[in-house]
Amino acid sequence: EQVECCEFLQEIVLRLKPAFEEKGVSLHCFCKKSIFITIDRIRFGQVIHNFLDNALKYSRSDTHVQIKVLKENQQIRIQISDQGDGIPKSDLPRIWDRLYRVDKSRSRATGGSGLGLTIAKEIIEKHGGEVHVKSVLGKGTTFSIYMPIEGL
Ligand code: ATP
Ligand code: MG
Repeated sequence: EQVECCEFLQEIVLRLKPAFEEKGVSLHCFCKKSIFITIDRIRFGQVIHNFLDNALKYSRSDTHVQIKVLKENQQIRIQISDQGDGIPKSDLPRIWDRLYRVDKSRSRATGGSGLGLTIAKEIIEKHGGEVHVKSVLGKGTTFSIYMPIEGL
């Protein structure tokens, strides 16, 4: 399915806004219109939802979460950044592993199965995309999803 990226993301943002507001975390999406990607709307929607869910879960109140969409050559980069707990460097390569969690006890308290990122990466790669992470402990985390653009 061909989907306009900006509209697609804004819709998810709108749906998650109440949960963010409740925790006092701001959520904004910066994007230009008319970039089309070919995605399974439901599956890819779950992926974005997952990253935002993590961003919220590992952030404190009065911090910001943002989605930025950047057009780069033949690709689109969807960047999701938070100012949350961050991930220790030594844990970074393992966050994509099934059931892997950085802080077992804290993660358990916040709920979830630990399957989120594993599945998200699988779905992105099935769409011909890639995902990368940058994180600084105590400062925040940025996930970048690279997707092929339609019609080039
Ligand atoms: P689930 O997604 O099933 O609810 P989860 O969030 O623990 O559980 P993942 O989404 O796979 O599982 O994430 C794996 C681990 O990576 C998390 O437990 C957390 O330690 C770390 N992590 C993921 N996203 C972030 C983030 N934005 N900030 C800090 N840590 C993160
Ligand atoms: Mg998660």
